Amino acid sequence: MSDTKIALVTGANKGIGYEIAAGLGALGYRVGVGARDEARRESAVEKLHAAGVDAFGVPLDVTGDQSVTEAAELIERQAGHLDVLVNNAGISGPPTGPGWGQDPTLLDLDVVRTVTETNVLGVIRVTNTMLPLLRRSTSPRIVNVSSSVGSLTRQADPDIEIGPVMAAYAPSKSFLNAVTVQYARQLADTDILINAACPGLVATDFNGFFGPRTPEQGAATAIRLATLPDGGPTGSFFEDDGIIPW
Ligand code: NAP
Repeated sequence: MSDTKIALVTGANKGIGYEIAAGLGALGYRVGVGARDEARRESAVEKLHAAGVDAFGVPLDVTGDQSVTEAAELIERQAGHLDVLVNNAGISGPPTGPGWGQDPTLLDLDVVRTVTETNVLGVIRVTNTMLPLLRRSTSPRIVNVSSSVGSLTRQADPDIEIGPVMAAYAPSKSFLNAVTVQYARQLADTDILINAACPGLVATDFNGFFGPRTPEQGAATAIRLATLPDGGPTGSFFEDDGIIPW
């Protein structure tokens, strides 16, 4: 096995995912740019190459069994193993009315299904399909890009300003956090470290470029968790300032 570490970032064609790919590339990782749209994927790969990153495109829709299986086969051919998986791809789902909010009393169940399919089932699908490749790494790391809106502790605290009610999106991240803990328990006797990361409020397409943080700033915690030393934390939820309560 070559010494070059291999990373796969889902939803890496733009936003925070792109910057996670760029940041890992700058650290010397060979980065698979997971993205479902060919033109957006190739343009991200080109941009990363121009920045000196050893990147390759990985066609990947996290909601599709075949797409994810083919992505694993491509990484198998390209590298034979995987050191880092960053499950970054995510959607918020549409608001239930004007503005940002998703009112639980007005929710369309199809929105809940679609958001859960991408933000939770997609992560499980990608993780389980990539696990055989990750198990061949000497220091495998998995990062699930979550959100502090998934923190039930913060959501339930009236003194914390946490934005609008988001009844499809926020619970999808709570679900993702819960799944992350179950993976950490199951993988506790392996070298795999798996954690959830909140990027903070970042100006991206996701929120109409609202938010004080840049995608590069939003990528920092995920990059830190992707490059944890052996024996580092697992089964936790981090933002820049440290651990977020569940
Ligand atoms: P973004 O700019 O909208 O990027 C989202 C990425 O996910 C895009 O590359 C998108 O691809 C991809 N994606 C969506 N569905 C996919 C699917 N089925 N298969 C593959 N890729 C898919 O959003 P972002 O702000 O960078 O968000 C990245 C992550 O950070 C998300 O998990 C989000 O929940 C989380 N987050 C963001 C914020 C924030 O303030 N921005 C805060 C907390 C957490 P396409 O271009 O093809 O749509």
